[in-house]
Amino acid sequence: MRRTQKHIEKMLKREIAPEYRELAVKIKEPDSVVMPYVLEKLMNLEQAKILNALPDSPANIAKKFNLSQETVDKHFQEMFEKGLLYPGKSGWHLTRSWAGLHDSAGSSNPKYDSDDFFDLAFAKSDETVKKQINEVLKGTTKTIRQGMRVIPRWRSIKDILGVLPNEDIREIFKAADPIVLLPCACKNIDRNRKCKDTIPVTTCIVHGRAGQYNLNRGTGKKLSHDEVLELLDSFDKYQLVHLVGNYNSMPYLVCNCHNCCCGSFYRNVRARKQIQQFSIAKSRFIAFVDAEKCKGCKTCVTRCPVDAIQLKQYSGYEGKRAFVLEEECIGCGLCVLTCPTGAREMKLIRPPEYIPQLSSSTDIEV
Ligand code: SF4
Ligand code: SF4
Ligand code: SF4
Repeated sequence: MRRTQKHIEKMLKREIAPEYRELAVKIKEPDSVVMPYVLEKLMNLEQAKILNALPDSPANIAKKFNLSQETVDKHFQEMFEKGLLYPGKSGWHLTRSWAGLHDSAGSSNPKYDSDDFFDLAFAKSDETVKKQINEVLKGTTKTIRQGMRVIPRWRSIKDILGVLPNEDIREIFKAADPIVLLPCACKNIDRNRKCKDTIPVTTCIVHGRAGQYNLNRGTGKKLSHDEVLELLDSFDKYQLVHLVGNYNSMPYLVCNCHNCCCGSFYRNVRARKQIQQFSIAKSRFIAFVDAEKCKGCKTCVTRCPVDAIQLKQYSGYEGKRAFVLEEECIGCGLCVLTCPTGAREMKLIRPPEYIPQLSSSTDIEV
């Protein structure tokens, strides 16, 4: 259970060793108030000193700090399992960004769960989003990153021609190996999430190198191709939206996100309200309603994660019926799956070029 804001503020007022501030600079967070404290919850001081000396090999680190090889290996193993360390070409290195650390440390083996870390990570995410939005409001930046993109539920687009392999989860996992189910970092970090009693925490699925990396560090569960499709079908009952990296190749990660706790959704809601922009890229699809078939039951209204559906009086029809606010629809397909009369369908409205070629080209003008 997340503690009060007061508890977080108290943690942020404590004296902290300079090694954690030095590390915060290394992961490109020099101005962050919260980052050094997040790092402090993930490692002891000896480990912080080692991380500041990277990249290097464990053998060199042992010599440099006059430690036994066994002690250094133990530190490396623990920091690797916690998602702080990555093996690279020039030796082991520290995770390169807060986004990466959020995802790896937030989805580590549950034996490393720590309320203080989760509370501070939550505060760090909040700090990051506020900073990004404020920069746009102040005019110091004119772009916002749409790093994640919605892909629809496969059943909602199964009869549509022109669906790309990287927007159909059956294709994404077809040749994937290993496929690994992970605890979702956002759900883990938000200890007060409203969906806690109804939606499981293990909803993130990675594959290939990312899957193997997580198995190696002792987190996640390996799934077969059939098991992953079965699992994703079982998610149909939840209000979970598939999010993938916003680039035009096969995604290595399929997030299944709830609007109450997902960092991407949280950022999107704020961006939509404060700068009238989306920070999640919509899918290439949009929902529409066949007013003839709609009975006005409102199932889709409560099912939609972004309040994109309302009821209205159509001329020539009795009673109010659903319609889609096209500007707001993110194209997730959730409403299509549960409409009892089959009145809802998805339409393909954006060309393949809508998807950026590279993950580095997902900034949009605001
Ligand atoms: S983006 Fe979504 S699934 Fe991924 S870690 Fe956050 S909430 Fe979880
Ligand atoms: S779920 Fe279907 S029938 Fe019910 S209001 Fe929505 S479109 Fe109409
Ligand atoms: S109307 Fe809502 S639930 Fe339906 S596809 Fe659009 S965003 Fe998803």
